[in-house]
Amino acid sequence: MTVLIIGDADRPDSAGESPGRFAARGPQSDAWFDAETDRAVVGWRCVLIGSAADVAVYRERALRAGAEPDEISVVVTPDGALDVYCPVCGTVGPAPPCESCGANLVVSDHVSSRLAARLGVPDAAS
Ligand SMILES: [Zn+2]
Repeated sequence: MTVLIIGDADRPDSAGESPGRFAARGPQSDAWFDAETDRAVVGWRCVLIGSAADVAVYRERALRAGAEPDEISVVVTPDGALDVYCPVCGTVGPAPPCESCGANLVVSDHVSSRLAARLGVPDAAS
């Protein structure tokens, strides 16, 4: 089983001897996770532990590498805020309002795993 931990969350008992642990998502955690998915075989299981944004990024990465959704478990830690997708200008950033176009957005509960962001909806009241 592959266990990737981003941040300082506790290592689960099921993590085995060598979970990948990284203080933050970046090139090192990307390279480690890509190596894990490269050698994954049928029956591979993956546990992703980190902020909602971090687990969304690695879940999408695993799916693109050929994993099935039920092979991936996620544990979301409370640290880290998700960015917001602005449908007005198509950018992702902290919001509201959109840093790029200034649109006032209402942040929905929908999370895009591809973008690692919540969906913003233009505020009709503004
Ligand atoms: Zn925008």
